[in-house]
Amino acid sequence: MTDLATLLREKYEPVIGLEIHAQLNTRSKIFCPCPTDFGAEPNANTCPVCLGLPGALPTLNQAVTEKAAFAAFALNLRINEVSVFSRKNYFYPDLPKGYQISQYDQPFSVAGYVEIPTSERDEAGRPIEWRLKRFRIQRMHIEEDAGKSLHEGMPDSATSSYVNLNRSGVPLVEIVSEPDFRSSWEAYDYVQYLRRALLYVDACDGNLEEGSLRCDANVSIRRRGSETLGTRTETKNLNSFRFIQRAIDYEIARQIRVLEEGGRIVQETRLWNEREARTYAMRSKEEAHDYRYFPEPDLPPLVLSAEAIAALRARTPELPEPRRRRFAETYGLSLEDSTLMTTTREAADFFESCAAAAGNARAVFNWIANELLARVPVEKLSLATSPVAPEALAELIALIADGTLSNKLAKEVFEQMLTTGKPAKAIVQALGGGQVSDAGQIEAIAAEVIAANPKQTAEYRAGKTPLFAFFVGQVMKATKGKANPQVVNEALKRLLDAP
Ligand code: ADP
Ligand code: MG
Ligand code: ZN
Repeated sequence: MTDLATLLREKYEPVIGLEIHAQLNTRSKIFCPCPTDFGAEPNANTCPVCLGLPGALPTLNQAVTEKAAFAAFALNLRINEVSVFSRKNYFYPDLPKGYQISQYDQPFSVAGYVEIPTSERDEAGRPIEWRLKRFRIQRMHIEEDAGKSLHEGMPDSATSSYVNLNRSGVPLVEIVSEPDFRSSWEAYDYVQYLRRALLYVDACDGNLEEGSLRCDANVSIRRRGSETLGTRTETKNLNSFRFIQRAIDYEIARQIRVLEEGGRIVQETRLWNEREARTYAMRSKEEAHDYRYFPEPDLPPLVLSAEAIAALRARTPELPEPRRRRFAETYGLSLEDSTLMTTTREAADFFESCAAAAGNARAVFNWIANELLARVPVEKLSLATSPVAPEALAELIALIADGTLSNKLAKEVFEQMLTTGKPAKAIVQALGGGQVSDAGQIEAIAAEVIAANPKQTAEYRAGKTPLFAFFVGQVMKATKGKANPQVVNEALKRLLDAP
């Protein structure tokens, strides 16, 4: 049988669409005043509304509208002036009402996209080549979360399950992409970007392990060149970036194998099992009519005037991709470098203050990327927590620019800045001054070195030019490494090459 890589190159094309549920990080729930904090005592954060008691009525939390609007702008979605809540009916123990309040045919926002850096990865998982690609987003609607069933970990888990309704009524947005991804890494880069964008606008805390961001992956395969979509499966339960990527790759390989063996793909919902690194069929796919959607009679439509939408848009913070583009243009950073510097809003703020203080963005980038990020993970880099403040790093860079510090000395000074928190100038002074750039002083030392080494001098003058490095080394030794290398080179050339 032909191997998978060849089949993918020559015969089949994967098609992937993602549905992402993101918890909005409001303090209280969507339809009641219960708090949303994660990790409270089971069922402590509940009231008649989110317990689904008969007669309790929902009221929409205004903060939800605002956070959802920021999320919509972050994804270039168009907000509908009127959207409608609908009941999605199904039975499950963690859903006491017997229905979820969601949105159906009149969702909060539609027709968005992101245009973002993406790259395939090599065997070691390293990006191969970054390029920009646009992924369209069908819709983003608002809904409430369900509670959580607990089937494991209790003394009587063999015979009982528990239900925790703290999550019941936590606000969610569901972000539905078009089937625009052609590989698992495109999907991976998209989810990463989505998380980043939601964090930038402070709409979601982005915590995958706590379930703040949950992803379902729809995967199908078609013949290369075909315009029609193949039958898809939907894989659920993907609570890490790596799982998303690996589950999609697993599904692509599985479906191609089925097709190659003459079989047909069954439309179904599958579950990812991380321990076995495979997906399992869970149930045949439900259709919209199974849910008997109808407009929620207890809530009025959500109405936002054009002015209100414009006002919300005006308050949306700068987003990661526009900011990345601005960094690339203003500071001459590559796609990869500008992506790194915009990983978080805090890191981007740090880079910008530093670039402003130093006036040399390239040097600032190099120092942050090569030195600072070797100590601090980029996700943690911020003005508040960086061991070296932007102004302090700028001062160090200025000392290199004016010749006080060689790059080698500067690294030593930087090391001390990290451990002592002292400014660069104070450290240079304590070290007995910076680099020696005085041409007269260096020339005198060079002359001494030449006089002390007549044999090497004769050999050099007779044509053994690699000995030049020996003389540089001697001068450096005599100056305890503080001589400006460029000035040393010039002085030695002058003296040695003199007839
Ligand atoms: P639902 O899953 O609720 O039935 P949709 O039919 O709108 O909803 O599709 C959900 C997701 O599946 C979307 O992200 C869409 O892009 C994706 N999708 C639809 N058809 C395919 C397909 N044939 N292959 C891959 N993804 C698909
Ligand atoms: Mg679905
Ligand atoms: Zn409540």
